Amino acid sequence: MSKDIALDEHLLIQKYFSNIGSAFLAEHNVEISVGDDASVISSKQNIQQINSLDTSIEGVHFLSSMSSTDIAYRSCVIALSDLAACGARPKWYSIAITLPQVEDSWLNSFSIGLQKFSDEYRIPLIGGDTTKGKLSITVQVMGEVDTNKAILRSTAKEDQLIFVSGVIGNAYLGLKELSDNLGTDSYSKAYLEPKAHIDLGLKLSDIASACIDISDGLLQDLNLICQSSNIGAEIYLEKIPTSISEKSLELINSGDDYELCFTVDEDKYDELMNISKTLNIPITLIGKTSFSKDLILYDVDNQRVELNSGYSHF
Ligand code: ADP
Ligand code: MG
Repeated sequence: MSKDIALDEHLLIQKYFSNIGSAFLAEHNVEISVGDDASVISSKQNIQQINSLDTSIEGVHFLSSMSSTDIAYRSCVIALSDLAACGARPKWYSIAITLPQVEDSWLNSFSIGLQKFSDEYRIPLIGGDTTKGKLSITVQVMGEVDTNKAILRSTAKEDQLIFVSGVIGNAYLGLKELSDNLGTDSYSKAYLEPKAHIDLGLKLSDIASACIDISDGLLQDLNLICQSSNIGAEIYLEKIPTSISEKSLELINSGDDYELCFTVDEDKYDELMNISKTLNIPITLIGKTSFSKDLILYDVDNQRVELNSGYSHF
């Protein structure tokens, strides 16, 4: 912990962070967890470790009005979603939190969000850091795959089918509900409590050629698959699954849904539909990869939609 946070650092960590998900330490081979200089984990053969990290900043990645339970939970899920996209089994996570002040009730509710996350995905919190400053949460998630089983962005081929899981745009509608203070009704849960599609990612590791989780927007994220795989894509607005009938570009491309977008060989279609049934997750065909390097979106009249270059974080 940095020296500038005015409290008993040891006590704070002990009170709010030391027992999160501790029920899952043994099954994930954690020998030493929160409390020592570093965590210690035993490793196995024929396994590759998968590691990813995401920072969530107040006012940028989450609303100031959110409860600290929701802030904790959402920050962790959106980090874990990268492991889902790789087809990895989650094993451990750590968090670095920067706090403007130490407030008991806020931290208490924050640790409830962590516990909820740990319980749902059955992984322990194994370490972190605590500093003082503008509220931000960095979550590092770690997982495993059998050697060479990670699903990458760079391995899609031309003439493959492109799918998305779930419904696109609900988080956008939810964020609108929350920002416009329309109460927390139908869609806000999609924004506040996204899911990391771990089980789907695990099933996809045998059949998908490439996969990404949709954090920034369907078009940008699919475009990342295209660029790193050196292919193009043709997708159809009409086919993109949404909750409302007006499929605006904003709706389908605003991100935050953390659904998976992935490519699959045509002959795997039936297998994929079985996975969808087994997991009870809608999986929808939205287009095909192509030889050209362009990402092309067709509107409901099959006219090409003009796309600009997409979002950037800065
Ligand atoms: P050091 O000064 O050696 O970096 P810290 O006081 O930062 O030690 O951390 C002590 C222990 O508490 C370490 O095991 C660290 O991983 C853990 N820790 C610190 N902050 C957090 C946190 N926010 N969540 C989980 N574990 C934490
Ligand atoms: Mg430290």
